Amino acid sequence: MPGLDKVEQTIAATQPGVRSAVGHAPPPATPTQGHSPHQAIRPVLSLKEQKELLRDGKIWGFHCSKCKHDRFDPMLRCPKCGSTEIAKRQFSSTGKIVSYTIQSVASESFLNETPFAFALIKLDDGPMCSGWVPYIRNEKELPLGAKVEYVSSYKPGMMFEKR
Ligand SMILES: [Zn+2]
Repeated sequence: MPGLDKVEQTIAATQPGVRSAVGHAPPPATPTQGHSPHQAIRPVLSLKEQKELLRDGKIWGFHCSKCKHDRFDPMLRCPKCGSTEIAKRQFSSTGKIVSYTIQSVASESFLNETPFAFALIKLDDGPMCSGWVPYIRNEKELPLGAKVEYVSSYKPGMMFEKR
């Protein structure tokens, strides 16, 4: 399913990557660092904060102060320039459809909205993110480049509506 669940999976998937990247560097100065995951460096914006902001209709994410790279998923180090000067930033809630697939079969929580589009959206001022657009049956109803806006929803993931 799209949205936050996916973000959580991404984080789960990226955490070992972060550790293994650290593994290439000299061993940590303090021995406790190696076996104390709870003391690991935290992203400037927690997943909980990000979720709460989304509930308020605001899309916040991560921004590299050095090269201006924006990312929705947490980053401790910029994947583009390697900088650790990561800030949190609010992105615009409007964007354009980059690509999508139409889902006609959905889990129970989505049943009322099928068929829907699971889309990749480029935010007007912000990065790409994934979300879903309810009631899309075919390409005519959602041409590529179509304007969409994020709307707060009790449904899982990030819901966008046509604008
Ligand atoms: Zn950067």
